[in-house]
Amino acid sequence: MRLNEYFMRISDVDPAAVIEKKTQDFQFANPDKVIVRLDLEDDPLPCPDPCTQAMKSALESISHSLMKLPPRQGYPFLTEAISDFYLKRGVKIADSEIFINDGAKCDITALTDLFSDEDVVLITQPFNPIYYSSNLFSSRPIRFVTAKENEVPMPDGLKADVIYLSNPGNPSGLVYSAEQLSKWVEYALINEALIIFDASYEAFVAEGGVRSIYEIEGAAECAVEICSLSKSAGFANTRLGYTVIPNRVVFGSEKLNRLWSRRQRIRFNGVSNIIQRGACAVFTPEGQSLVRERVKLYTDNVRILKKPLISAGLARDLPVNAPYLWFSCPKNESSWSFFGTVLEKAAMTLIPGSIFGAAGEGKMKLSGYTSRENALLAAERIEKFLKEI
Ligand code: PLP
Repeated sequence: MRLNEYFMRISDVDPAAVIEKKTQDFQFANPDKVIVRLDLEDDPLPCPDPCTQAMKSALESISHSLMKLPPRQGYPFLTEAISDFYLKRGVKIADSEIFINDGAKCDITALTDLFSDEDVVLITQPFNPIYYSSNLFSSRPIRFVTAKENEVPMPDGLKADVIYLSNPGNPSGLVYSAEQLSKWVEYALINEALIIFDASYEAFVAEGGVRSIYEIEGAAECAVEICSLSKSAGFANTRLGYTVIPNRVVFGSEKLNRLWSRRQRIRFNGVSNIIQRGACAVFTPEGQSLVRERVKLYTDNVRILKKPLISAGLARDLPVNAPYLWFSCPKNESSWSFFGTVLEKAAMTLIPGSIFGAAGEGKMKLSGYTSRENALLAAERIEKFLKEI
């Protein structure tokens, strides 16, 4: 057997593991220091009570029911709940257009199974590394559109076949206006391209902002939308996400929905009944109110953390639509170098922006996924540290 030679283009280095190692080495050398971590990107709160209660009763019921494979696309009780969730926001999605998965990452990366090796992939910079890496497994050409400072990336007029958009942007935290997103939809329709709309952080979009690409006319003919319960509903550990593939997305004479179904039949076992029962509780009024509480906690943390960075001229005072903040390193320091400086001088960990592609060099990301106490302590340390350097 010969290996897939394209696999060798994927780096063996896991940036999260490098951060972890540097953090542990620092702690070992400085046992008296209390490190404040702003590099952790998963929602740390427990799974909400209504979800764990629903999982407990699902667990009870599997002890006295026949064991069958879960429906590959998801149990109707969950796909219907998600379809209703869209309808409440004025978006019509049939439950047959929703596919339950074990997290957004799996589908974002697996959708590449459907593309030709000749398709030109367009990635908007700075980007979530999985968009890039999952396209390195083949010879597919990749090109980039880089956003201007503090702006969302917009079409550049050049042709592409598959376009990755993230809303709110990870790592930028920026949200498209309906008008800006319409430009991408128009561009995709003209180019007969597919938009992969990563809406994993949609729950963080402030009231009145665009949460779903299907709020835009024409999007149901050219876009797939992917959402996650990891980021705001406590499913980072239990794992659950969903992908919307409207029946009107057609390439050649093939419905993408049918092709994805075929792909899932071969490669996917479905998500366990217990987890899907728990996820269903997220879409009740009580579940949604708990999601809003968590979103408020993390976005308020970001508001606290951004103050000293705004005062130092390293971040702009933009609305907070994400549980993280993207800002510039002072004095043109490189991302990894600044990571080391902050760790050394303030006993704090951040995320180097260069992890998000070349356009992220000289930038940093901090995560608001922490307790209020930690956020306040970190803001104090950032302020003091920025005055000292
Ligand atoms: N999309 C974005 C923008 C992310 O940041 C992440 C994870 O960090 C994912 C998707 C994957 O989410 P999930 O936990 O649902 O796999």
